[in-house]
Amino acid sequence: MVDYASLSEDLSQQKEAYLYRRRQLMQSPQGAVVKVDGRECYNFCSNDYLGLANHPRLIDAFKTAANEYGVGSGAAHLITGHSEHHHRLEEELAEFTQRPRALLFSTGYMANLGVVSALAGQGDAVFEDRLNHASLLDAGLLSRARLQRYAHLDSADLHDKLSQSKAKLKLAVSDGIFSMDGDMADAGALANVANAHNAWLMIDDAHGLGVLGQHGGGTLEEYHLGVNDVPILMGTFGKAFGTFGAFVAGEDILIESLIQKARSYIYTTALPPAVVAATRASLQLIQTEGWRREHLQDLIKQFRQGAEQLGLSLMASNSAIQPLMIGSSDQAVALSEKMKAAGFLISAIRPPTVPQDTARLRITLSASHQPEHIEQLLSALDKAVNA
Ligand SMILES: *Cc1c(COP(=O)(O)O)cnc(C)c1O
Repeated sequence: MVDYASLSEDLSQQKEAYLYRRRQLMQSPQGAVVKVDGRECYNFCSNDYLGLANHPRLIDAFKTAANEYGVGSGAAHLITGHSEHHHRLEEELAEFTQRPRALLFSTGYMANLGVVSALAGQGDAVFEDRLNHASLLDAGLLSRARLQRYAHLDSADLHDKLSQSKAKLKLAVSDGIFSMDGDMADAGALANVANAHNAWLMIDDAHGLGVLGQHGGGTLEEYHLGVNDVPILMGTFGKAFGTFGAFVAGEDILIESLIQKARSYIYTTALPPAVVAATRASLQLIQTEGWRREHLQDLIKQFRQGAEQLGLSLMASNSAIQPLMIGSSDQAVALSEKMKAAGFLISAIRPPTVPQDTARLRITLSASHQPEHIEQLLSALDKAVNA
């Protein structure tokens, strides 16, 4: 008999510490208002930052491609899974990011595992911001390189750690916009430090791409950094793009190496062509509808000004991620539940997703919101927090 008792004990402990996680049942598409567990709620916790996940143009592209290509891609890219839609999207992403080439991955998690393990192995060293996304930290561990974490946003600490390292290959990795904090890496400073040590630099811009930069080019467009400054750019489609999947963009030789060596590229089924076709439609909208970014920036300003007036503890973020720091997990959960009772969906983010005693409400804003939604959110927060 296997030991269910010990699993059960772990689960009880997690419940007692307010760390138990539950899924909510979504019964509508993404949008400013969603139906969840049978109720309509204002949605302030999705990553659909530009409001594209339920856009008619994406749905049309998806349906048309499903009619032409069916549903499953049928195989990995290196067998028979690489359709014309996959190939075109790679070309379009290369142009969009102004890099020689781009390569699709089936998820962002897999892109990160694939890149880090393809480049770094035993005898090498990977340097990561302490608050990097879990997939990047897992990638560092899986690679069997020596994983060193530097202090959050601290390029001087990265410099020190790189200086002391005797590793053959050095790879520095950072989120562009940090997923649970919303703050931005100083990618220019990271690029200078990495360059000075002949280290590779990889930026995971899951939360910046599409949202930041005049043309939606993300963190690197904000800092005017190209492929010589940041050799590896990773982006995902599950956030601002409103679809599913991920890519890596860089020099031809990097991309060819990934095709040969990235195990999470080689040994997995290619994305369904219809998902890729929808992503192509999304990329068009990201490039042509700058008003979505401008509208989102206005909402961010409105929220921060209002929250400041209410004395809420905002974090240093100018992105669509606007967490309220709470501290203890039980208080974060209680507040999230209070807000849900008032009709607002906001998730409580707790350890181990964030460090001990930094549980928070992760509020996210989207171009699908209107100023009235922000006003209502602020007034509900005022009642829930300050009452
Ligand atoms: C969401 C996210 C990922 C993972 O992307 P998926 O496509 O959802 O697997 C990787 N990195 C960061 C920073 C993310 O926010």
